[in-house]
This record gives sequence, C-alpha cells and structure tokens, in this order.
Amino acid sequence: MVELIDSHAHLDFDKFNKDRDEVIERAKNNGIVKIINVGSDLSSSHRSLQLSQKYEMIYAVVGVHPHEAKHLDKDALKVLKDLSKADKVIGIGEIGLDFHYDNSPRDIQREAFRKQLRLAKEVNLPVVVHSREADEDTIKILKEEKMNNHNVLLHSYTGGKELAEKASEMGFYFGAGGIVTFNSASELKKIIQKIPLTRILIETDSPYLAPEPHRGKRNEPLYVKEVAKFVASLKNTNLESVAEITKENTELFFNI
Ligand SMILES: [Zn+2]
Repeated sequence: MVELIDSHAHLDFDKFNKDRDEVIERAKNNGIVKIINVGSDLSSSHRSLQLSQKYEMIYAVVGVHPHEAKHLDKDALKVLKDLSKADKVIGIGEIGLDFHYDNSPRDIQREAFRKQLRLAKEVNLPVVVHSREADEDTIKILKEEKMNNHNVLLHSYTGGKELAEKASEMGFYFGAGGIVTFNSASELKKIIQKIPLTRILIETDSPYLAPEPHRGKRNEPLYVKEVAKFVASLKNTNLESVAEITKENTELFFNI
C-alpha cells in the first residue's frame, strides 16, 4: 500500500468529537502512516500534545495562530516553551500573519510571529508558517529574523509567485493542500508545478479545505491521498513517487 503522511491537521477540533477514533483508524487502515497535529492557541497546543501521547502515529506542533496573536503574552510564551520540550512535540506552529481576517491587529500579529520564530530558534525546532494575504510582510520578517538556516514550512501555500521565489531562495518548504485541487486555483497550480517535489509536503489542514472530490465536506487525513494524486498529475508523475518523496521530505523536515 502507498504510504503517506498528513503534514498538517487539526484533529483536536470539536468537529471530530463524535468520531475522532474512527477518523484516525480510517486513515491508518488506508496507508496514512503519520499525522502532524498543529496547534492554533495554547489549549489546542495542549490537546495536540495529548493526541500525540494517545496515538503512536500522531505528532504535535505547538504555537499561537495569528488570529490569536493578541493572547501571546509573556506567560503564554513561557507555556509554549515548556510544551515545546515535551516528547513528540516536533515543531512550532502554526504561526504567522493573516491579513485576510485581521482577527488580531497587524502589529500584534507581527510581534507574535517574531517572538515565536525566536522561540523556535532557541529550542531548535522547525517552524510551520500560516501566511494569508501577507506575502511581503511574511518574507520580510523571516529574512529579518534570519530564518534562512532553519527549517521553515509555508503551510497550505496560497501566496504569489514572488513569495514562492524568495522562499525557495531561502531554502523553505511548501505545503500543498486541498486548495491545489480546486478549479479556481490556476495560478497556484503553476506555482506548485515549478517548485521541486523535494521541497513539497502534502497536507489536509483537516477539518478545513477538503480536496476535490470532497470539497465542501469536513476534511480528514485520509483525503491527503487525493492531494497527493493531484500533485502527481501536476508533476506528470505517479502517486507512488509523490508519496515516497513527500513522506521523506516530511520526515527530514520534522526529524521524525
Ligand atoms: Zn492549519
């Protein structure tokens, strides 16, 4: 069976309260060998850690999402640092900038992003970045914080061509998720075609952004296979090689 990793999921969210075990079992029985569960605030970071302790195949990333940036005070940063040292916590994220929703003021988002990048360097863990409609600021901050010698993943990439080029120069990785399968994403498809497969991780971002043919439904790690199939078609290759290369990329990136 083809083995795949879902490099970005939120299985701790309420949407999985009724059938979390079945969702994980379904993924496991269909070749999904690892799932990275990503925090978006302190409590979801705690829950990610708990999931990683309960299920052998799950790993945790801890961090405060730009939506929640206003809550990242000194105490919260200390909690994150403690969490980051736990067994099976393999990264800091998701952190970054979201200028689409602006749920936290932009200056506060920038500050929270910088603080967590510094934390990632301090504890020597890779970084999972969320960037939406903030291409220029994202790359500027990553440059200023000298993240070029660090493992940085631009998850569920939706940025433009320019950010993709600059991020490639800095040696960053790109997360391909459900959006690349959407008919409307023609620009993104071109960008993904240009990025070498050795720089791509695949993900679901469950419960959001279900890929075709499941678009509009709740997403789950099993559907990472649809993303991989689609990336294979974009790259004129087969599912087997996309699975093998992206699995290896993910394991190297997170050191798992
Ligand atoms: Zn996410």
